[in-house]
Amino acid sequence: MAEFDTDLFVIGGGSGGVRAARIAANHGARVTIAEEYRMGGTCVIRGCVPKKLLVYASHFHQEFEDATGFGWSVPPVTFDWPTLIANKDREIARLEAAYTANVEKSGARVLKVRAVLEDAHTIRLASGETLRSKYVLIATGGAPNHGAAIPGIEHVISSNEVFHLPHLPRRILIQGGGYIALEFACIFAGFGSDVTVVYRGDNVLRGFDEDVRTHVRGEMEKRGITILTGCTVAKVDKHAKDFTSHLSNGSSIASDQVMFAVGRHPNIRGLGLDKAGVALNPENGGISVDAFSKTSAPNIYAIGDVTHRVNLTPVAIREGHAFADTVFGKREVRVDHADIPTAVFCQPEVGTVGLTEDQALAQFSHVDIFKATFRPMKATLAGRDTRMLMKLVVDGSSDRVVGCHIVGDGAAEMVQILGIAVKLKATKADFDATMALHPTAAEELVTMRTPTARHVRAAAE
Ligand SMILES: Cc1cc2nc3c(=O)[nH]c(=O)nc-3n(C[C@H](O)[C@H](O)[C@H](O)COP(=O)(O)OP(=O)(O)OC[C@H]3O[C@@H](n4cnc5c(N)ncnc54)[C@H](O)[C@@H]3O)c2cc1C
Repeated sequence: MAEFDTDLFVIGGGSGGVRAARIAANHGARVTIAEEYRMGGTCVIRGCVPKKLLVYASHFHQEFEDATGFGWSVPPVTFDWPTLIANKDREIARLEAAYTANVEKSGARVLKVRAVLEDAHTIRLASGETLRSKYVLIATGGAPNHGAAIPGIEHVISSNEVFHLPHLPRRILIQGGGYIALEFACIFAGFGSDVTVVYRGDNVLRGFDEDVRTHVRGEMEKRGITILTGCTVAKVDKHAKDFTSHLSNGSSIASDQVMFAVGRHPNIRGLGLDKAGVALNPENGGISVDAFSKTSAPNIYAIGDVTHRVNLTPVAIREGHAFADTVFGKREVRVDHADIPTAVFCQPEVGTVGLTEDQALAQFSHVDIFKATFRPMKATLAGRDTRMLMKLVVDGSSDRVVGCHIVGDGAAEMVQILGIAVKLKATKADFDATMALHPTAAEELVTMRTPTARHVRAAAE
């Protein structure tokens, strides 16, 4: 009898696990992958993909309004939430089937079941069956975390439930200041809901460039979203038809739904990590891994959100691919976590890559800032009160562009391409040498000539 039933057992059929399973199978490994909910994981089932579909849907409201300035007469429009949700669910089901089919086509075996570790090589399935595997990959992702157990927490929904609401809430309170909270605030505002954001910090989007934070908040407020900072939801009361949220500042807010998006925790509960000798990272609570995603158990690896490094789909995919190449492809591959482009699909959208101004100031003695805010051309005839922000952060000593930050339509698409320039270590002179493409918003990135701020730190005596 063979010592192992399979060469690789992957726990979790999300972005990272699916990629790792497919690539390992392509390298000739016997692969088994277990998924306890739906193949595709958070991104496909209740994250990036359904969210972006809702973002697209919520944009139409503004488009209809703006069209009149361009000569269109738009008849009164109506929106039907159940139609949107049903269409979205159909697309997600299609993607889920495609994910399963692609993994199976690679030769991997898919088990729709929860799996946990008995020891470093033994996996126990919820069906009671056990399997022995030479290697194990933990790719169990993360889950919403509601924070402190305040009275009435059972009435609060997370980003998991928000995709399945039977009705569009007329009024919604969203607690959180990160990207998921702001994206859903803008989605619901786009559908005409009355939206209040409650955030304990002093401004939204902690960790982003300060100019981006201020600009986004101002633009969201212009769109009618109420943003309350420096307070939290202390209690939620449920009534027959709605809810009252009592805030730490003594005020209270009535709404039809209360959603929290205050953070996510790695999915490690009940996984049997201690039985298998897998240690956690005390700094972030995720599974501790080395540069090749190897855990403290030599045959067990972990990738994606469960390691709590950079919780983004393309990162989980890259880590899964690198793991499969390293362990089964005879080619050691490390993932470079520097300069990862990222977006917030709020309205207007944020795209950012590289260092914020504050991060650059901490690293370099000479930092030049190039910044422009302007009214996008489309807003002129539309009569819309909105401004776009473009910002370049430059290491003044080497002339390297070390950070790009954009708030405005198309920011995410622009920053994906700008990410190549930043990765190639392009200088401000390279940006200046690039011909503008007119008329675009992006041309601003190659035409900002004079620094708006110049920080020079005196050399230490
Ligand atoms: C609302 C929302 C919006 C997002 N938007 C974006 C975005 O725009 N861009 C972006 O890059 N990222 C986005 N993300 C983050 C992105 O979804 C994650 O970074 C990504 O899905 C992580 O992939 P993963 O493979 O690590 O885990 P996941 O995709 O979470 O997959 C883990 C899988 O493991 C399964 N599982 C867990 N435990 C077990 C077990 N014991 N046995 C069997 N199966 C198990 C789970 O059911 C899940 O399917 C978003 C996330 C959320 C919540």
